[in-house]
Amino acid sequence: MYLPGEQPRPGQRLIKLNTNENPYPPSPRVRRAIAKEIAGSALRLYPAPRADDFIASAALTYSIPPNMILAGNGSDELLAMIFRATLGPGDSVAYPVPTYSLYDTLALVQEARILHFPLGPDFQVPLEALADARANLTIVCNPNSPSGTLVPARGLAKLAKDLRGRMLVIDEAYVDFASGNALGLLRNHRNVVILRTLSKSYSLAGMRLGLCFAHPAAIDALMKVKDSYNLSRVALAAGAAALTDADWMRRNVEKIKRTRASTESRLRKLGFVVPPSESNFVLAKMPGRNLAPMVKGLRRAGILVRHFATPLLYDALRISIGTPAEMAALFKALEPLMRAKHAARKSPPGVAG
Ligand code: PMP
Repeated sequence: MYLPGEQPRPGQRLIKLNTNENPYPPSPRVRRAIAKEIAGSALRLYPAPRADDFIASAALTYSIPPNMILAGNGSDELLAMIFRATLGPGDSVAYPVPTYSLYDTLALVQEARILHFPLGPDFQVPLEALADARANLTIVCNPNSPSGTLVPARGLAKLAKDLRGRMLVIDEAYVDFASGNALGLLRNHRNVVILRTLSKSYSLAGMRLGLCFAHPAAIDALMKVKDSYNLSRVALAAGAAALTDADWMRRNVEKIKRTRASTESRLRKLGFVVPPSESNFVLAKMPGRNLAPMVKGLRRAGILVRHFATPLLYDALRISIGTPAEMAALFKALEPLMRAKHAARKSPPGVAG
């Protein structure tokens, strides 16, 4: 089962740096669009099954024709649809690890054969091994979570070609925080499917809005497993409005990127190994040390970060980029925890430290 990060109860005062939400609010156009949608009697009626206005807005924003776009209840729903439409028992699905652990959950539901390809020492994606595996479905999360690292689109273009028609899903949930994206691959590669979400850069995690871009034949295949009314009227109105205000999104992304740079350098000064992030979170590693106690210490100080108790990630924290004030609170709590750790290490055995 996929285990999401902790969501505080209403009224609980915690600094949330554990699920990569955006610390800034969505465009004011979203609030106005929602108010309009709920003001009359439209909610009596089912929403548009094909999300027409939202998709028209996406077509304009991304310069991609509407018949190459599918809307989902978050990109999680689109991932579920892709797994359901492409994988049966015994079929293979390949992806680098560590990555978004929902892929494992969805593969298990389909009884598919999971092929894990470990990232290289500097988190490089093993593109050749993925191509050689020739899985029925290949997924690259780009930028990857939890490493935050990006494969240039060139490498993905070669992978798409080498897969010779087998589907390549590029999960671009965090790509607005990165230095490039793979949307251009749709032009020459019919097997490429690109996923986007409005949860991160557009600050709409609570609305559940995802987009899938692919060749019209792939979109038609996915439509067969789509629930009729998979997005609410409120979400569709919010999504259409949000996409008309890409400037608002970009301003927030720039702020987050500035905070990301200062967070990375401060974590490195504290002794963490931090791969250069192209997303709205950073991975802070202390190679070989279990960081579970540090996560508990931060939790006691009212700060949530993500820790994965797996062999590849037990020595790392995934920290979402919040506001500068939130990051200042993180460091205020983190520095004494680091000192306590070092002091404990220096004490000879048997001496209380
Ligand atoms: N892909 C990746 C890599 C993610 O981290 C997330 C967020 N947990 C998603 C997809 C799903 O995002 P959403 O369903 O909110 O669109």
